Amino acid sequence: MMIASLLAYTAAILNLALGIRVFQANRHASANRIFLIMCGTLVFWGIGYAFMFSASSAEEAMHWRVFSAIGWCSFYSIFLLFAIHFTSYNGWLAKPAIKRFIHVPALVFFLYNTTLSPESMTRSEWGWVYLYSQEVLWQSAFIVYYTSYVMTGFWLIYRWGKQAENTRTKRQAQIIVRTMLSVYVLAIPFDTYLPLLGYPVLPIAILLSTIFTVGISYAITRYKLLSLNFDTAGDHILQKMIDPVLLVGTDTVIREVNASFLELTGFLEKELIGQHLSIIIDDHTGNELERLIASKPEGKKSEVLLTTQTPMLSVPCLLSSKTLYDEFGDTLGLIVLLHDIADQKRYEKLLKSANDELEAKVHARTSEIAHSNRLLQQEVLVRTAAETQAIYSANFDMLTGLPNRRQFCEKANAAIAKAAVFGDTLAVVFFDLDNFKTLNDSFGHLHGDKALEEVAARMRSVIRKSDVLARIGGDEFLLLMDELDQNGCQKTVAKHVERFKQLFEKPFFINGRESFLTVSMGISFYPDDGSEADTLIKNADIAMYDAKRNGKNNYRFSSAMMKQDVIEKNRIRNNLFRAIEKGEMELYYQPQINTNTRRISGIEALLRWRMNQGELIPPSQFIPIAEETGLIVPIGNWVMNKALSQLSRWHEQGFSQLTMAVNLSARQLREPTFSAQVKSCIEQGGFNPKYIEFEITESIAFTKDDAMVSLFDWIKRNDIAISIDDFGTDYSSFMTIKTVSVDRLKIAQPFISGIGKNRKDEAIVSSIIELAHKLKLNVIAEGVETAEEFDYLLQKGCDAIQGYFFHHPMTAEEMGTVLQSEAAKS
Ligand code: C2E
Ligand code: CA
Ligand code: CA
Repeated sequence: MMIASLLAYTAAILNLALGIRVFQANRHASANRIFLIMCGTLVFWGIGYAFMFSASSAEEAMHWRVFSAIGWCSFYSIFLLFAIHFTSYNGWLAKPAIKRFIHVPALVFFLYNTTLSPESMTRSEWGWVYLYSQEVLWQSAFIVYYTSYVMTGFWLIYRWGKQAENTRTKRQAQIIVRTMLSVYVLAIPFDTYLPLLGYPVLPIAILLSTIFTVGISYAITRYKLLSLNFDTAGDHILQKMIDPVLLVGTDTVIREVNASFLELTGFLEKELIGQHLSIIIDDHTGNELERLIASKPEGKKSEVLLTTQTPMLSVPCLLSSKTLYDEFGDTLGLIVLLHDIADQKRYEKLLKSANDELEAKVHARTSEIAHSNRLLQQEVLVRTAAETQAIYSANFDMLTGLPNRRQFCEKANAAIAKAAVFGDTLAVVFFDLDNFKTLNDSFGHLHGDKALEEVAARMRSVIRKSDVLARIGGDEFLLLMDELDQNGCQKTVAKHVERFKQLFEKPFFINGRESFLTVSMGISFYPDDGSEADTLIKNADIAMYDAKRNGKNNYRFSSAMMKQDVIEKNRIRNNLFRAIEKGEMELYYQPQINTNTRRISGIEALLRWRMNQGELIPPSQFIPIAEETGLIVPIGNWVMNKALSQLSRWHEQGFSQLTMAVNLSARQLREPTFSAQVKSCIEQGGFNPKYIEFEITESIAFTKDDAMVSLFDWIKRNDIAISIDDFGTDYSSFMTIKTVSVDRLKIAQPFISGIGKNRKDEAIVSSIIELAHKLKLNVIAEGVETAEEFDYLLQKGCDAIQGYFFHHPMTAEEMGTVLQSEAAKS
């Protein structure tokens, strides 16, 4: 009796404890709350029975039975409610009205039990028990009630377990169904059928109910049933998660893996559970695995290699972890999340290589561009410099920095256009240095350049602000004077030009050497002498030539006559080209008389040109043009051939002591074939070269270049005589005789014509004769026209005479006659 009470009491306490435990596990879950209530019904049941068994009377026993009926009447409807909530069933039974209605039978049976009389209580060996024999109908209804409720509950839980995808749910369902069923099967005979048949047996259902509650409690610890309802949902989520997830203990032993993880690794669940994490995770950074998976601040992830089973691979993953705590705040383990980054890695790699490639290309292209930029820059610089230089040299004279002809013309034309509008007059002054060529030839080009620079500087110093001064080549300068008044413009310009003349009065000091320069100037006016710069320059040039012709160091205004001269010059030039082939050239001969013997000692060959077989052109007019055009070379050859063959003829005729003087131009001497040509003439003529005399000017004799020096050597070696023509008229006459080995000086005609008129000329003539004799040189006077001149020269001891006083130049025929008659006289 006492034992039965004790057992029932213990069962009540145990159930209460278990109910509280489940409730504590998750207070908010309805299933847990209902479970607690269910345990509460078992408490009523158990306590009621405990006191019922050991009651002192039938009435008291009945009283406790009614108390226990609170429990065992409501237990089944509460169980059904629990099953509905636990399985999250949402069918018709779960409707709120039905859920409330299912408790109605419990209430009905309880009220019925309160009406029973204590007579049905029997005192058995276990204590007071109830015999149902009188109320078969009610008892049958009660059996139907609890059986249908229990079965419905079983069915709900069984179905839930069956439909569940994970093992845990199945296990939980099995435990509940098995424990409940075993309680049901074992308890029914004792609590229902045997008492119904009249056997007073101990109603053990309440005792057995602990099997059920203990089972559920076990399920809680083993499978987290009820205790972790939220986590169960979590587990569901865990299983459904796309990313591989692991649950590991603090010892890094794998406790749980999800489907994604298994899928990714190809392992089976049983192969991983209970294994150390290191069998699947390889940390290539060398970190301790524990440190690696230790909870990190939000977002911090480690990169690891995950070893897979089928196929065997190392998959790069991002690992993040979070510590799991239990309800007491103790560390349960870690939830490890893995994120497969193999694809990401592959794309990263592709992206990186594409990026590297792009960068390399960009780099290559950038340096290529930089290189071509540099080249371009250099080219631009070079081109700009070249262009600047080109522009400069196209417009300026490099030596003096003055504008050149082009620039001058541009400015002059602009000034002309302006003058045309305002009715102004312009003047163009053409400057040409006198004897500059001699200075250049004597001291070299550098010296000449220095002189030009100095000349330019001096000229610059006197020009008016609006004037344009230009150098147009060699020793030629131009000056443009604008805004002149038509009346008295000649006077204004003359006054100005005088100042230029004065500039040359002071000597030029170049390289420590003192030189004197003079300038000849020609002036033309707009509009009288032309309406274009070119015409004005041309006419100023002509005027300048006229100034030169008239003694140099002076200026001339352009005139109609000068312009006519130019036209004439052009006519001559045009005709000269074909003069030789047309046989228009002729040689005249002028005898040279020996003053001692008064006989003809030599002859000078003088060129004549009968243009178009009519008009006789004097050499002074066409020789300069022939020199200028280069025609002097063929003409000179013709003269040489003609004169020497004539000499040979005269020698043959018996005038074997005659010499032939041939005039030579500088241009002829520079011809490389000159000496060969002379040689062939000598060979053809078959005479001694000592009968040949070359007449050259002082400036030629003074030329110091190698070709000339060796030519003079050659002439000397061949015994050909050299005489200096027009001696005394040119620059530094005495220098010439000092440096060149000449044979004869030919006193220029202007000095001779001064004899008897000009003491100075006489002095010069006598000095030349005296000096020549001192130097053991022969002297001849040319252009002797009068007896007075002849007498003077005779008296001064001049060796030979040439001039009209004896003979005019004559044809070869006439010359032959003269020679014959002279020979006849003797
Ligand atoms: P030149 O060599 O001084 O020749 C002397 C010139 O004086 C000749 O003039 C001659 O006719 C002239 N003359 C001779 N006696 C007298 C005189 O008593 N009074 C005057 N007033 N004049 C006299 P031409 O023949 O007109 O020659 C002029 C210049 O032409 C020559 O001057 C010479 O430099 C050059 N020339 C002549 N023939 C040739 C030649 O074949 N070759 C070269 N390169 N030049 C030549
Ligand atoms: Ca001559
Ligand atoms: Ca002469």
